[in-house]
Order: sequence, then C-alpha cells, then structure tokens
Amino acid sequence: MEFIREKQREIPVIARPDVLVVGAGPSGLGAAIAAAKNGAHTMLIEKYGFPGGNLTTSMVNPIFTFHDINGRQVIRGIAGEIVEQMIASKASIGHVTDLTFDNASMTPFDPERTKVILFDMLEEAGVDLLFHTLVTDAEVKDGIIEYVVIENKSGRQAICPKYIIDCSGDADVAAFSNVPFTKGREEDGAMQPATLYFRVGNIDNTELRKWMKNNRNLLKDNPTDEEIDSQKAIAFLGLHELVDKAIADGDLDSEVAPRILMYELPNNQFSVNSTRLQNVDATNAKDLTQAEILLRKQVLQVHDFLKKKIGGFAQSNIIDTGIQVGTRESRHIKGDYILTEDDILQGTTFNDGIACGTFAIDIHPPKGKQQIFTGSGRVVYEVPYRCLLPKGIDNLLVAGKTISATHTAFGSIRVMATCIATGEGAGTAAALLNRKKQLTREIDIAILKKTLIKNGQYLLNGESEENRDESLILKRVNGSGEKAAHYNPFKKSK
Ligand SMILES: Cc1cc2nc3c(=O)[nH]c(=O)nc-3n(C[C@H](O)[C@H](O)[C@H](O)COP(=O)(O)OP(=O)(O)OC[C@H]3O[C@@H](n4cnc5c(N)ncnc54)[C@H](O)[C@@H]3O)c2cc1C
Repeated sequence: MEFIREKQREIPVIARPDVLVVGAGPSGLGAAIAAAKNGAHTMLIEKYGFPGGNLTTSMVNPIFTFHDINGRQVIRGIAGEIVEQMIASKASIGHVTDLTFDNASMTPFDPERTKVILFDMLEEAGVDLLFHTLVTDAEVKDGIIEYVVIENKSGRQAICPKYIIDCSGDADVAAFSNVPFTKGREEDGAMQPATLYFRVGNIDNTELRKWMKNNRNLLKDNPTDEEIDSQKAIAFLGLHELVDKAIADGDLDSEVAPRILMYELPNNQFSVNSTRLQNVDATNAKDLTQAEILLRKQVLQVHDFLKKKIGGFAQSNIIDTGIQVGTRESRHIKGDYILTEDDILQGTTFNDGIACGTFAIDIHPPKGKQQIFTGSGRVVYEVPYRCLLPKGIDNLLVAGKTISATHTAFGSIRVMATCIATGEGAGTAAALLNRKKQLTREIDIAILKKTLIKNGQYLLNGESEENRDESLILKRVNGSGEKAAHYNPFKKSK
C-alpha cells in the first residue's frame, strides 16, 4: 500500500466538557442524559443529524427486553423514561407480548416521533449537542486521552474532555486509543450478519389477522386464534418453506434470512427484519458500501414477496428503509472483566453490577445457517462496571454493544434496553468521578450503585445465591427458538 505523510497543522480546541459522549445511539442516550442529570457538563457528538443510533438510523424495532418471565421490569431508569415519553407522545403502545421468540416482552415504537422525543429529553437534561460530526482520532498520553479529533463541515477540530464515554457502537474511540479488542467470534473473527430494515405501510390489518389464522401452520408454534387476537401488536415469524422456494425460484437473493420476521408498529405499520448479508465488517467502508448495494436490492425483493404471499399486504408500500444498513456486531473491547456466556446463562450478579440484562443469547449466524437462541427472561444477570473499563486507559468508559464481553455473551447484551442501561451506568459513573476528580478505576462502587437506584434504575444488588431458582438456569440451545415457549408476564399481573 502507498502512504503519504500528512503535514502537521494546528487545529482549534472547540470545547473542554467534563464528559464527552461519542455516539447518540441507545447507550449514548443513556450515558449523556445520566451524566448531565448528575451534574457534569456533558457534550454529545453524533455522526448523523438526529439521535437514536440503531433505534432510528437503522430502524431497528422493537426494543428488547425490559422484563423477566415473572413480569418484573429489570431495566428501568432512563430506558424506562424513554418508553414513558414514547407512550405519552403516542409513539409506542408500551410493552407487549412477543410471539416471535420467547422474550418476556417487546416494545415496538414509531422511529420518526422517537427522534423528536429523544432530542427533547437530551435538551431537558442540558446536554450540549454537536451532530453531523465524526470523531476521527484520539491522543493518549500516560493512559489519559488528552483530546479527540473531530471532523465536520466546520473542518478539523479538537475537544479536550476530562472523561470520555465511547458509545460509537464500533468502539471507535477505544480503537483510536490503542485499547485491545477482538472482532466477532474469538475463533475466526466472523461477525453476526448485517440487515437493512424497512418499514411498510397501508396494510389491511383485519385481513392479515384472518390470513394468519388460516395459515397458522406457516407461523412459528402454530399460534391459536386467541393468541393472534390477543396480540396488541403483531409479532410475525415464519414462512420458512415459502422463503426457501422463492430463493430456489430466483425471486429472493440466496443470502436473505431464511424466514420472514416483522413487527407491528403504531399507526398500522410494520418493521421488517428479513434482509441479510454475512461477512460485513462495520469498520470497513468497502464492506459497508457493498452491503448497501446488495441489501437495498433485497428490500425490494422481500417487499414483493410479502405483497404476493401474505394476506393484507397486497396494497402495501415501503415507507422507508434504515438510513444505513444495520450491523449487529463489530469490536468487543478488552476490559477489566470479560462477560461470558456462563455469566448470562446462570444469572450472575456482581459486586460492581451497574445494569441488568435478561434478553436471550441470540446469535444470528455469522456463517452457515445455524442460529443460537437461548431463552429470554428466564434468568436476569448483571453487567459489572469492570466491563466498561478498557485496558490501558484511565479516563475512558465504553458502553453499549462493544463492552468487554465474549462473542456469545454479546449475543445478549447487544439489545437496546440493555445498551441504554449500560450507558446510564457509564454516564452516572463519569459524573460521580468528575465530582472527585478521580480516575475511572477509583470509583466508589457503593455510591455508584446507590445513585443508580436512587435515580430509578433496577439492580439485583447482591440478590443472594440462596434465593436463586436453580430450575431457571439455562443450557445453551442451538436453533432458532422454534420450540421456545411463549411467556406472557402481563397476563399474570392482570
Ligand atoms: C439488524 C439488527 C437487528 C437488531 N435487532 C434488535 C431488536 O430487534 N431489538 C433490540 O433491542 N436490539 C436489536 N439490535 C441490537 C441493537 O440495535 C444494537 O446492538 C444497539 O443499538 C447498540 O447500541 P449502541 O448505543 O451500542 O450503538 P449504536 O446503536 O450503533 O449507536 C452508535 C451511534 O454512534 C454514532 N457513531 C458511530 N461512530 C461514530 C463516530 N466515530 N463519531 C461520532 N458518532 C459515531 C452512530 O451514528 C450511532 O448513532 C439489532 C441490531 C441490528 C443491527
């Protein structure tokens, strides 16, 4: 490869915030709102023109998962507030039952209204926003990031924060700071596939429910009439054989997901999660370019398939697609603790647990067809603060999907409710550290946990081993959750 040497130049320092959050996705929202509400001067930098990350840019829907199978809401705090605001603005009907996999709950929402809700929440918390801006480098001296370099239409500039929270979804700041990381699976680096979501409108919902009852054998677990009628928002999974045939007939690209998966949103729209492409590295612009070209073609094919094969879709239209392909997995930083599959399956609690998770280990196949899906909502585990502490840096925290976890554990912590919660843990920690001018590893964990709980977050907080129900401890299931039972935590509480 050819190289050139850039000429040295001076760039302006445009801000010196207490806390700089990079990326306004689920984890960045949790981090920025928490840091600002806890008194730190907080700045949030985002590549796009609106907040949400995968919530809005890649149109990922619904939010998973706030509840365990007993209906206990184990992710609250800022994630809970976002849902309350969505309900108040009619952007969501709230938490509902999920008939697709065995998740205890799902939370569908309207991504367009959500952008405004998130802006309002950030402004109300007093977060200083700088959007349309990419962080492109970081300068480290003696384990401290002294400044990050940003690029936008105003040129190349620097920001000198006291603490940084990397919520970029690809651990960009950590990588610029030479933090060690792995990508994808430990054994071969293969990553979960990319998907381009699209939203469909103008669906005849009555006709669709009728079609589902007449074709229940094509749907996962043959749902009963009662199950179909009781769904406040349809969660639709199935049509495996029809997809196989359409691939064989050349009507669908051979790479598409081997089934149709889609969720009803408010205002009679559906979010479709059925395109798919393996071998996409989200940190490689060439891969991303190729993925955009191929997946946008798949969107049109899948929509044609829906119109022809599913009742109620004949007159439907594509409302929009994600503004970029959704990449499920890229870097996993190496932190002071690496969360493992066993931690998740056994519902492990930690002295420094700062967020709960309860979603399944859900690994869309990086290669081949086999999906790994291990029950959701049965066990609740904690994410320790140490997973947010990247090796070698003392003023950087990492939150969201790139925290220190194995590829398998990542299969669970990656969902959006959990990402908001790890963001809230990081933001709260940064604000507390700032009050005492401490380095990230000097945090008083007891005060951090107390502050999180006082602010409305839920933690297992040492839930004793004796109280744990051994029958809930899980073994890994290989397959697509086809045989998973349906849990309805809301039925019980009624
Ligand atoms: C196809 C797909 C399906 C999924 N399905 C579900 C689902 O059904 N339910 C669910 O809950 N979760 C789902 N997930 C997982 C979930 O969406 C993500 O894991 C989660 O959004 C990660 O949150 P995050 O904050 O870590 O990162 P992201 O959501 O990726 O947000 C990162 C933000 O940082 C910005 N950014 C990136 N780099 C820079 C930079 N250098 N400078 C400035 N800004 C930057 C990005 O623009 C973005 O806004 C899915 C993900 C994908 C891709």
